[in-house]
Amino acid sequence: MTLDLELGRPGRHRGALLVGHSRDDSAYGRLEIPVFSLIGAPGPTVLFTGGVHGDEHEGPIVLAELVRRLDPAGLRGRVVVVPRANLPAARAARRTSPVDGGNLARLFPGDPAGGLTAAIAAAITTGLLPLADAVVDLHAGGASLDYLPCAWGRLPRDAALAARTLDLLLGFGAALTVVNPNPDGGGTLVAQALAAGIPAMAAELGGAGAVSPASLALARRGCRNVLMTLGVLEGAVAPPGRLLRLRPSHFLRSPGFGLFEPAVPLGLEVQAGEPAGWLHDPERPEEEPRALAFPASGLVLCRRVPAPCVPGDVLLHLAEDTDRAALL
Ligand SMILES: [Zn+2]
Repeated sequence: MTLDLELGRPGRHRGALLVGHSRDDSAYGRLEIPVFSLIGAPGPTVLFTGGVHGDEHEGPIVLAELVRRLDPAGLRGRVVVVPRANLPAARAARRTSPVDGGNLARLFPGDPAGGLTAAIAAAITTGLLPLADAVVDLHAGGASLDYLPCAWGRLPRDAALAARTLDLLLGFGAALTVVNPNPDGGGTLVAQALAAGIPAMAAELGGAGAVSPASLALARRGCRNVLMTLGVLEGAVAPPGRLLRLRPSHFLRSPGFGLFEPAVPLGLEVQAGEPAGWLHDPERPEEEPRALAFPASGLVLCRRVPAPCVPGDVLLHLAEDTDRAALL
């Protein structure tokens, strides 16, 4: 049995995803990942996940709060919540698992006979995903990135599912909704859900290994907005804010080893060619730092947090305005 939770009983219940974890100190051991159900009148099932990356703390905080505060008697549907999906990574406050180095957002659909992280992915794929009518996977920048809090998604190739997915994204009600038009999001829970025909979205709620009033406020509001959008909760969602898209050219990567000094804060509108920052080489203090320019125009959406960087690290990335007609 993968899911130890009976999803037919109204009310609030705690159960677990069970993932075998035989190890030196526990031959028959297993990982028990808490799962909560909040069940009201008949209606759609919405799966919320947090802690897919263990250094992203907004999801675990806000989803635990959702479990405590949502009144099942007021729901038309089922809310299933996994506050800390990659439990070993979350306990260690690391992006990847300290057990096997697995990145849960790269391993879906998973493999029950793979490493522990692949087995967690498989447990979610087989134990929870088939129940879901919509999926919301809460992420943030983690220890290495900091985002302007936003709803975040990809659109599948199927036109009808893409439209429903965009409705879900906009239903989160964020001031910024960011879409990656590339439909291939290999290995993520969202990609797995979309492949199964289920509307799914993520959010990038902030980051820097911390939480902020702004990131938590969006997470709190967004989860309830999604439930209202799907009719599970009563209420109306405020009109969505700005719709943005990503391009590969929006990503400024480090050309070398060094210390990155950004020239701009998050939230600035920039033009291609404008100064983005400087790469300092601490081994050559007699040389001027290398000036870096923005590779495209757009809104500065994300920045790298640690100053030290190596070739290929994303230092800053942008997004540009778009609209629904251009995306669908
Ligand atoms: Zn993440």
